[in-house]
Amino acid sequence: MKNRLILGVLFIVVTVSVVFIIGRSRQAASAVNLGEARPAAEEATNLVPADASATPDSTDVLIPAEKARMAPALASGTWLNSETLTLEKLRGRVVYLEFWTFSCSNCINTLPAIKGYDAKFREKGLVVIGVQSPEFESEKSLETIKRGVARLDVKYPVVTDNEMKTWDAYGVNAWPTIFILDKQGRIRYKHVGEGAYAMQERVIQTLLAEGDKAMSSTTNDEFGGTKIVRSDEEWRKLLTPEQFHVLREKGTERAFTGEYADNHEAGDYYCRACHLKLFSSKTKFESGTGWPSFYEPINKKNVTEIADRSYGMVRTEVVCSRCGSHLGHVFDDGPQPTGLRYCMNSASLKFEKS
Ligand SMILES: [Zn+2]
Repeated sequence: MKNRLILGVLFIVVTVSVVFIIGRSRQAASAVNLGEARPAAEEATNLVPADASATPDSTDVLIPAEKARMAPALASGTWLNSETLTLEKLRGRVVYLEFWTFSCSNCINTLPAIKGYDAKFREKGLVVIGVQSPEFESEKSLETIKRGVARLDVKYPVVTDNEMKTWDAYGVNAWPTIFILDKQGRIRYKHVGEGAYAMQERVIQTLLAEGDKAMSSTTNDEFGGTKIVRSDEEWRKLLTPEQFHVLREKGTERAFTGEYADNHEAGDYYCRACHLKLFSSKTKFESGTGWPSFYEPINKKNVTEIADRSYGMVRTEVVCSRCGSHLGHVFDDGPQPTGLRYCMNSASLKFEKS
């Protein structure tokens, strides 16, 4: 009798613990994957290598970029603490998405860590978004949500998902579920439940460093295959209004107004937006057009040519292979040895003397 009582108590304790640990599961049989306990001594500063054996839906490992799937769009909802955000707008940033609801205790337990990421990495390019995914009717009222968000002192953007459209698009079935998206909007990490905080911090750092590596790499001479993706908002911060218009909106500067049409100094011309080396003064020639003109790029890989049928003309647009910025057009009336004329905008280039 006494043994049974002990067993019963033990059973209850274990059951309560399990429920507590896994969080609220929508389906009893949902595949809730616990963030396994990691050694306390884990270094948070080390970048985490991608797991080559990972699948696009893997949990708790860094999914390699080439296997990662694009994150579904965020369904429209009401935004708190922020203007309306879209993943398109957030390209160039690492996005941390938590599916949560303000009255879920497991979700609330994750908040100190998430607020920590927000405080530590917001300025470095991380955007934390709480997707308010109601389990109960009472969790759908905007007033109640607002009160919950204020009471919990959540300062990062929160968007309501009352119809669970974003929840369904991401295939979520438990609170809380976390996704971390890279700067290109791909899902690179998924975690269900509490925990794995040090791992998540390392994933955030790794993904933040990915773009930086491309920007600061020593391979400015040759496009290495890693594209640089930034939101318009970020490009605007990096470029003057004229540069933004030409590079990011395919504008054309007026002839004879740019700073390089008459530049005869020896040196190289780099992409103004991402500093990839594009042209050498050795291939520059007097075209008389009022735009800096070259008969070939420094490396064919560094520029990409795109058919352009705008303004009723058939032309070939030239863009930077690494950042996709508009540079100018290429025509077949240039001098030998190529017979090509790369007609560039000065605003798209940055000259550096050799
Ligand atoms: Zn570029």
